[in-house]
Amino acid sequence: MSYTSIPLTVKDFDDVRRGICFGCGCNCGYIAYLKEKKIIDVYGDPLNPNNIGSLCSKGITLCQQIPYNPLRVKNPLLRRNGNEWEQVGKEQVIAWIKGNIKGRVGIFLDRFTDLIDYKVAKRITENIYSDAVYLPFRASSLSPQQWVNKKLILMFECEPVFSEVMATRWLVDAFEKGSYIVTVSSRYTTAPSKAKKRILLKPPLVIRFLEDLTKAVRGEIVNNPLKEEIEKIAELLRFMEGSSLIVIGDVLLHSPWKNNVFKALKKLRSILKVDYSIVGDVSNQEIMELPRFLEDVEKLDSLIVFGNPAVYMNENLIQVLKEKPVLHFTLFPNLTSNCASLVVPTLLFQERDFFGYRSSFGSSFASKVIDPPENSFCLSDIFPLPHVEVPENSSLPFIEHWEENFSSAFVEEKGVYLLFDRVLSEEIGHWSLWTHELSPQQEAIMNGKTAEKLGVKEILNIGDIKLSVKISSNIADDTVFIPFSFEETQPFGSGVRIGRLIKRKGYRIEKL
Ligand code: SF4
Repeated sequence: MSYTSIPLTVKDFDDVRRGICFGCGCNCGYIAYLKEKKIIDVYGDPLNPNNIGSLCSKGITLCQQIPYNPLRVKNPLLRRNGNEWEQVGKEQVIAWIKGNIKGRVGIFLDRFTDLIDYKVAKRITENIYSDAVYLPFRASSLSPQQWVNKKLILMFECEPVFSEVMATRWLVDAFEKGSYIVTVSSRYTTAPSKAKKRILLKPPLVIRFLEDLTKAVRGEIVNNPLKEEIEKIAELLRFMEGSSLIVIGDVLLHSPWKNNVFKALKKLRSILKVDYSIVGDVSNQEIMELPRFLEDVEKLDSLIVFGNPAVYMNENLIQVLKEKPVLHFTLFPNLTSNCASLVVPTLLFQERDFFGYRSSFGSSFASKVIDPPENSFCLSDIFPLPHVEVPENSSLPFIEHWEENFSSAFVEEKGVYLLFDRVLSEEIGHWSLWTHELSPQQEAIMNGKTAEKLGVKEILNIGDIKLSVKISSNIADDTVFIPFSFEETQPFGSGVRIGRLIKRKGYRIEKL
């Protein structure tokens, strides 16, 4: 496909490039206008079927602002004598790696690593971890563009505006076409505002609802206070199976009930032709998830780390991390950098050939749009792979064909639950004033009834931590919602890292 012949920008430019955004799994196409090799404007690519001309605020920030963000790490920094840092070159980085990355090596990959990084990591060690959820089956049976034609859409604890942003566009189009949308979630957000039926429940009851819906579809007896509602939706599903879609947010998979969700969805898909999409940060390559990483850190001899896994650690684990040889690839000097031995600036997806694999809707490839900054590296610059092939898109089975024996966990319904989930600024967004302003504060958000039950007014105490309370009727009873993309070293307003707030390491839902 060729570029549009009419420039979309009114700014003066001397070059134009097309790229793919990897800010989430929607993989929107963008057109970048450059002046003297610098991006001066970006627009959504009208020829890309994923976004047909739109870009979201996160994508614009990532494509246009983050490459030139003055807070980016610009040179490799080696820790000397406690908190003193020495600027070093690539040769010293390689020498340090030879001397220190040995023994049982662990590699932690983040959203901005690609399939080549993954393959390189595999050559170094078997211990590959990530903050994504590993799905050994297809995360989605259709693309978001196909959501638009679904007549019945059931959404469980998901808000695409916070995860797969552009997918919301197709949800809104489905709504405009008269789709019957039902949301079952612990927060009212954009998706429920388009729903015909909004059911507000605390997280364990969302799981119960999904499990009982599966039972009702199979004609089994349902024992649930929302029995009537569940049986009605089950009837609709049976009636409109080919035109139905179930969307599930990844936060439910960062809980002890991950297998409950898989089991329910697997059963539904084995008896009905209902489509499904699991939205959020998911990996189609085998990785070990956060709880396992946090369990293993002590046993690892040295680590290569991308992103910011220190936000999931309590004080003890932070100390453990500080005592190990840790090579940290990063865009910004975050909490993990502060615990590392050597910090290396890394590349954004638009500064390299990028083979995305963390996506709800299938992997894809994009080539370099702008020149990489000097002294920044990706893993393959330091550990080159002899031969790299453009990977095929995923050939994984659908969930119902995934052969796995697993057991469900007990769903404890009583009590007040903490829910840690996304808001508009994610981790990288807090390093840009523009996106940080979209959600600048970390608060404990709950409804008046829950606040009364907990006896809190302005402050919620979790252990020795105090969080400001915000009262909102958009939160389910017995639920306290806390945005998790905050940490102590953010520049425009810090917060408390999830690792200090949650007892069950690596999860995002737990009983208060
Ligand atoms: S929806 Fe996702 S892929 Fe599209 S512009 Fe936004 S962050 Fe990028």
